[in-house]
Amino acid sequence: MKIDTKAVHSADRQQKGGGAFIPVTTPIFASSSFLYASTEKLDKVLGHEEEGFSYSRYENPTRSALEALLTDLETGAGAIACCSGMMALQTALMVALTDRPKTILAAGALYGATLNLLTKVLEPLGVETDFVDICDLEAVRAKLGARLYGCVLMETISNPLLRVGPMDRIAAAAREAGAALVVDNTFASPMLVRPLELGASLVVHSLTKFLAGHGDVMGGAVISDAAHLPALQALSRVSGPAMGPFECYLTMRGIKTFPLRMERQCLNACRAASWLASHPGIAQVHYCGNPSHPDAAAIERLLPAGLRGALVSFEIRGARKEDVFRFMDRLKVVVRGTSLGDVHSLILYPVIASHRDLAPKQRERLGIHEGLVRLCLGIEAIEDILADLEQALGD
Ligand code: PLP
Repeated sequence: MKIDTKAVHSADRQQKGGGAFIPVTTPIFASSSFLYASTEKLDKVLGHEEEGFSYSRYENPTRSALEALLTDLETGAGAIACCSGMMALQTALMVALTDRPKTILAAGALYGATLNLLTKVLEPLGVETDFVDICDLEAVRAKLGARLYGCVLMETISNPLLRVGPMDRIAAAAREAGAALVVDNTFASPMLVRPLELGASLVVHSLTKFLAGHGDVMGGAVISDAAHLPALQALSRVSGPAMGPFECYLTMRGIKTFPLRMERQCLNACRAASWLASHPGIAQVHYCGNPSHPDAAAIERLLPAGLRGALVSFEIRGARKEDVFRFMDRLKVVVRGTSLGDVHSLILYPVIASHRDLAPKQRERLGIHEGLVRLCLGIEAIEDILADLEQALGD
């Protein structure tokens, strides 16, 4: 089935052993434990001899439905829905490094909290991380040839400059080197790229973003290939990263319209990118649909035509911090928020948000200049968004 159909139908109406009727959509099972007519049955469920639910840290019917849906969308072998994207990332890295060297080869451009997880949490625990320009395949191969790594960690589309590494080739190189490939697919979503189909081992999502899509849920997910699924499930049962049933319900509800939303958001981003590129007040536009994009070859290979993501980053010509503040404060439709992927358009200033902890020189070196902002298009009428940008950019 196509992803649009999966998003609407997968995992609903599957409740086994129900009563006289079957709910059309998956309900919220707000129960920490589950009972059976006999203790013998519970014994079999706890012993994995029979399917069923016993305790919600292990499995919960609402969460299991969401996990089946996510597995279907990413064409994986199984999934665990977590309480946040960061919890999902931590879980995925622990699974990837089980029975492997405790070393990570990570993309240099990663979400700020992911960098902190690597350097401030995992490093003191003895997990070493080396960084590499993930868009430079030869540099990745050289690193993999020089040291044994437990896993390679990358994002499909980087933040905020929207770079795209050659994931298919990195997956092959990682496999050859015996390393797992962990991909944070939050910015692309399974609508654009399904990393497991390209050879990744584990896919991570912040469900908070495009998949839930309405700015009302914190959530994450790890979707696994068959090889890593037993370790993922075993870890989850013990460490308890799981998402609560109410958030699972909201996420399933959000996912039903996710392909429709994503299509519209990508179209809006395309229109915004070309409008911004012709605006005299804009010095540079970063967008995956630009023919002159530095990773155009990987983008052509990996992303579907016409779906080049919902994000556009742009540099306001000659703008200092105070000019960017004034521009952002003038916006009336676009929402100033430190997120992305919602139905409403969201704007973020990396200098004070995602890249706040970096020294100004370090930011400059990464190409994150003082006038750069990141816009994630929502589903509004594009004319209203462009008019809002125009009035905010005006003198
Ligand atoms: N990965 C990426 C690419 C993100 O942008 C974010 C959050 O912004 C996360 C992971 C973390 O997700 P969460 O905030 O749901 O923990």
